[in-house]
Amino acid sequence: MAPLLEITDLNVVFQTRRKALKAIDNLSVSMEAGEILGFVGESGAGKSVTGAAIMGLIDPPGYIASGEIKLKGRPVADYGSNLRGKEVGMIFQDPLTSLNPLRTIGDQLTETIQHNLDLSPTEARNKAVAGLGEVGIDPDRFHSYPHEFSGGMRQRVVIALALAAEPDLIIADEPTTALDVSIQAQVLDLLRSVCQKRRASVILITHDMGVISQTTDRVAVLYAGRMMEIGSTSDVIKQPRHPYTKGLIASTPVLDHVSVDSTLPQIPGAMPSLDALPDGCRFHPRCGDCKPRCRTIIPVFEDQIACHLFTGASA
Ligand code: SF4
Ligand code: MG
Repeated sequence: MAPLLEITDLNVVFQTRRKALKAIDNLSVSMEAGEILGFVGESGAGKSVTGAAIMGLIDPPGYIASGEIKLKGRPVADYGSNLRGKEVGMIFQDPLTSLNPLRTIGDQLTETIQHNLDLSPTEARNKAVAGLGEVGIDPDRFHSYPHEFSGGMRQRVVIALALAAEPDLIIADEPTTALDVSIQAQVLDLLRSVCQKRRASVILITHDMGVISQTTDRVAVLYAGRMMEIGSTSDVIKQPRHPYTKGLIASTPVLDHVSVDSTLPQIPGAMPSLDALPDGCRFHPRCGDCKPRCRTIIPVFEDQIACHLFTGASA
């Protein structure tokens, strides 16, 4: 059987007046049905661009320069207007971007269900009530407006909306970043359990290794448009190999088991901008393990990692 999602040699370019900037550089990754795959990295790593590419949402001056994205064995473009919603659901950082402030959550959910699933108004309404129940929202709140909910409850509504058309894949882009820390874990647990129950796969985009650790089965670490390391989440968290992955983990409080008042080590420097990418390994100016060849030779991605400490080299 074809994998649920298969991305092969994806290159996404943003054309500026001066030059073409590669936001995604030769990304290949596939995922199985039911899997929760994380994309992690700092801002500018290419996580959201990858999500947008899957959804056909790269707007000019950006474009997919080459590569293939297949869902259930078919190019995503083949799905046309069914791609968003019916095949792939989206959850964004700010729930208010997904909700209409002027309509009750019950109406919004019912309409999405009716529009996508070809049900009678009564059937759609019943399904909407059940969908709210599934995400822990009392049916009494059916006629409430988005502003009458807390941030965490609103994100629950958005999860119900994303699942309403019964997609096989959910892309959740920083779904808990705007929420209080105390609420984050509940919303992530809910996302995980509801998607498992519906047999929907999830791509979880986050800058937070704690979120990755808590929620995902497998994790892909991105840096400046490239995949640096991929593996099962437990392996990567327990035994990170790539220096960038190690840096991300060391700077995450719960994962590094440091006491609260000690200062967490931060990765020195910052992610390079796309128009000023360093030669060789893109991480080399920030890497404590940098060798002379790292400055000139791009490490190939091999055996689930792109780093000269582990792999051969290409020019
Ligand atoms: Fe560090 Fe070199 Fe590995 Fe890049 S290739 S992460 S600079 S050791
Ligand atoms: Mg982003």
